[in-house]
Amino acid sequence: MTLDELTHIDATKVFVNGAWIVPAGGQTLPVENPSTGEIIGQIGRGTSTEVDAAVAAAGAAMEGDWGRMTATERGRILMKMSALTLARAEDLAMIETLDVGKPLDQSRRDSVALARYLEFYGGGADKLMGTTIPYQDGFTAYTLREPHGVCGVIIPWNYPMQILGRGVGAALAAGNAVVLKPAEDASLSSLVFAAIAAEAGLPAGALNVVTGLGTDVGATLSGHAGIHHLSFTGSVGTGMRIQEAAARNVVPVTLELGGKSPHIVFDDADLDKAMPVLVGACMQNAGQTCSAASRVLVQRGVYDEVRRRMIGIYEGLVVGPAIGSHDLGPLVSRKQQQIVQSFIDRGKQELTLAAEGQMHPDAAPDGHFVLPTLFSEVAPDHALAQQEIFGPVQVLIPFDDEAEALRIANGTEYGLVAGLWTRDGARQLRMARKLHSGQVFINNYGAGGGIELPFGGIGKSGHGREKGFEALYGFTRVKTVTVHHG
Ligand code: NAP
Ligand code: MG
Repeated sequence: MTLDELTHIDATKVFVNGAWIVPAGGQTLPVENPSTGEIIGQIGRGTSTEVDAAVAAAGAAMEGDWGRMTATERGRILMKMSALTLARAEDLAMIETLDVGKPLDQSRRDSVALARYLEFYGGGADKLMGTTIPYQDGFTAYTLREPHGVCGVIIPWNYPMQILGRGVGAALAAGNAVVLKPAEDASLSSLVFAAIAAEAGLPAGALNVVTGLGTDVGATLSGHAGIHHLSFTGSVGTGMRIQEAAARNVVPVTLELGGKSPHIVFDDADLDKAMPVLVGACMQNAGQTCSAASRVLVQRGVYDEVRRRMIGIYEGLVVGPAIGSHDLGPLVSRKQQQIVQSFIDRGKQELTLAAEGQMHPDAAPDGHFVLPTLFSEVAPDHALAQQEIFGPVQVLIPFDDEAEALRIANGTEYGLVAGLWTRDGARQLRMARKLHSGQVFINNYGAGGGIELPFGGIGKSGHGREKGFEALYGFTRVKTVTVHHG
């Protein structure tokens, strides 16, 4: 099937005010299949003209049909978008696999997750309430939860459907209008999503999608005076620029900037349960996951056994074309492949290489593949144990006791997710309180999962919470009303 047959849209156009328009200048950007390096299509290269038009359309939607709609009606539209997404889940999965190189079974999980986000936030739309406040005699005081207005949502390429689901789904449910800027390497699913929204009856202007370059469309959007809230997921450097842009307009911003998440294994862990999760929590999406558990901290009593068993799993991991649903697909781009490969090369010079996976014979030479790589006995302050690699690379770090585990786990600039394997209930509770992270998983690990679970970081991992009901609070502002009635 061709890309056009899968998408049913002309991807060289952007979606503004309910219409598909050719960006000013009519320029396009290539769509590359990371499994082969082939150019398989083109997307529109948006400009500030379309960003201006999209922000204006979103502002008008807030004053028009969309802004007047009841929460129940908004919820119904999101439910309809969810149903239409499910009906097209297979197409969406194939589109994502071709566009970003995600193994097809993982893309299927993403399209179903997008539908689930829309369902979750559709159901939440009319359950978002203010409070009544006990106040002075003769007064009634209460709060209203109002949408911010026009939200700029800028998403990365690693989980396009999941991240647009959690951002756009929550923003719309709370009554905002959205201008979405997908990553240049992963725009197709966002464009198809716009078509689904229109088909579900979302009023014109409530959702606009402008594709193009980050430094161009993304920068214009984040600094636009017509934006009332920004939600960004991506790198620390770009996140800082977004926050600076938001500061100039004094608008709130939610940043989700990745991490170096620790996965901690104590001597009393159930290793049979832990082993596949320890590896899977980093290998899913070839390690291109903000919450990838890329540091595995193991207590010395079980260190040798965990190392031996991880090596066994690694040696069975197969990297191949995304369409084949191997354990790992390619990385998204040549650039990412080079970044990750240089970390691996450095590790091979400076660290103990414990294991590598295997390249499938069908892996094309121009595909952006790297082998999953495990390093062991890594010092906690080594660059590979400190910096986000965003590829299928894990480091094994031994520790002696709980205090040392905490010191190492909390010893990076990041704090997104932490995982913990122990049967000791008191230790579970102690560690959960002391770990510096936005989420803690005990005897399980949820990289990328958990639509219902509030998610976000501390430190350089960012601030603000998305996912779960909590996200709806972030996409609203509180107004306090005080009535004196005597
Ligand atoms: P990035 O620059 O942070 O890109 C994320 C999003 O921001 C994309 O939509 C991008 O558009 C846009 N963008 C880029 N420059 C912008 C600007 N000046 N103003 C506004 N928006 C802008 O990330 P990347 O370069 O694709 O990846 C680099 C590294 O970031 C990775 O190696 C990884 O470590 C990290 N990363 C983290 C996450 C995460 O989930 N936390 C996701 C992806 C990457 P374009 O794509 O069109 O440039
Ligand atoms: Mg691509």
